[in-house]
Order: sequence, then structure tokens, then C-alpha cells
Amino acid sequence: MLSMPARCWLCEMPLRLPGHGICSLCLRSLPSLAVCPRCGLPSAHPALACGRCLLRPPPWQRLVAVSDYSPPLSTLVTRFKFHRTTALTAPLARLILLRWLSLRRAQAIVAPDLLLSVPLHRRRVLRRGFNQAALLARQLAHWLGCEYAADGLRRIRHGRAQRALSAAGRRRNLRGAFRLALAVAGRHVAIVDDVVTTGSTVGELCRLLQAAGAASVQVWCLCRTL
Ligand SMILES: [Zn+2]
Ligand SMILES: [Zn+2]
Repeated sequence: MLSMPARCWLCEMPLRLPGHGICSLCLRSLPSLAVCPRCGLPSAHPALACGRCLLRPPPWQRLVAVSDYSPPLSTLVTRFKFHRTTALTAPLARLILLRWLSLRRAQAIVAPDLLLSVPLHRRRVLRRGFNQAALLARQLAHWLGCEYAADGLRRIRHGRAQRALSAAGRRRNLRGAFRLALAVAGRHVAIVDDVVTTGSTVGELCRLLQAAGAASVQVWCLCRTL
């Protein structure tokens, strides 16, 4: 591949700090919504868990998303994922890091000591050539100085495509699809994914971690679909 010019991935203006990938103006103009800190869905009181979470708390403590699934971020995610633009790894991971750091400053979120990524089935990794969530998680763990267990979560069954299924069908479809391959008792864990849609996949993984005694579980992603 040709070497990437040191230009912003969004506005194509030259970057002062090439490693950043996205300029500070574009960074500031990313949509920022008022969302529930627990489920990441729109909420009138972003400092408090929403009514849905009070009634039926999701199986994670915090969901950290950079934005909803809309341009320009959704466009970059597509390039990253389907056009194999792995040069976007650091710029995109940096967006998650910045979002998490600002939430940590404002709301004192616990720092994870272990990062995991949502696993793809081996067949899909072979087809795509990489697992985009794993690339993000590895980069984040490097910056945070914490452990990343690449094989900590394994997908052992392919399952049907989730899209066509009802919420209950999704849960059934995912049951037994994953295996936890390391001890997490007492550990603060964050699971990294590129896009969280219904939350049923990360939810299933969080339940595995909670059942294995994790002290806390966060979900970190680029986009949360609304
Ligand atoms: Zn820019
Ligand atoms: Zn909520």
C-alpha cells in the first residue's frame, strides 16, 4: 500500500500531528448526543441511568460510544471494516480513548485492567483478513498500558445472521455461541467492538464475564446505533 498522506481522514486538511488521523476541528464536530451512561441510548438526563436501565439493567456497567451510527463516523467505519483500511486503526481507537477519558474525568469511571474484543468466527476473519474489534482493542490496551487478551473470548458457533431475528430469537441464537478462555474473577474488563447495534452480542459476552466473577464490565465502541 502507498504510504498514507498526513491529512485528516475526514476533511483532508494537512495534520499538524500526523499520528492523530483526524483533525481537532473534525473531532469537535462529531455529533455528540445526550445518552444514558448505562445503555448508550438517547436520554434527557445523561448523568443518570435511564428508565429502561432502571427497569431492566443491561449486563454491563457502562457503554462508551463515540457517536451514533451516522456520517462521518459511519463512513470511516465502513472503510475500516469492508475496505480493509487498517491505517484507520489508530485514528479510530484514539476516538474511543478520547471519549472514554472525557467520561472518566466527568463521571469517575473505573479503569479496566483487561481489554477483550468481540470475536468473529474464524471463517469471517479469514474472509475479511482481520477482526476490526481486535485491532482497536490491541491499540487501546497499548495506550492504556493494560492487558489485551486476543483469544480471551472465542466464538465457537457461527449462528444465523442476527438481523432477521426478534430480540428473544437473538438471545436464543447466541446462547452457547461464545466461550471465555481466561480467568476474569475480580478483574475490571472492557469489551471493545466497532459498532454496537441491539447489544445482544456484547450482552451475551458480558453475561459470560459476569458469571465468571468479573468485578465490572464496560462496553467500548465507535458507534451505537439508536
Ligand atoms: Zn478534519
Ligand atoms: Zn439506559
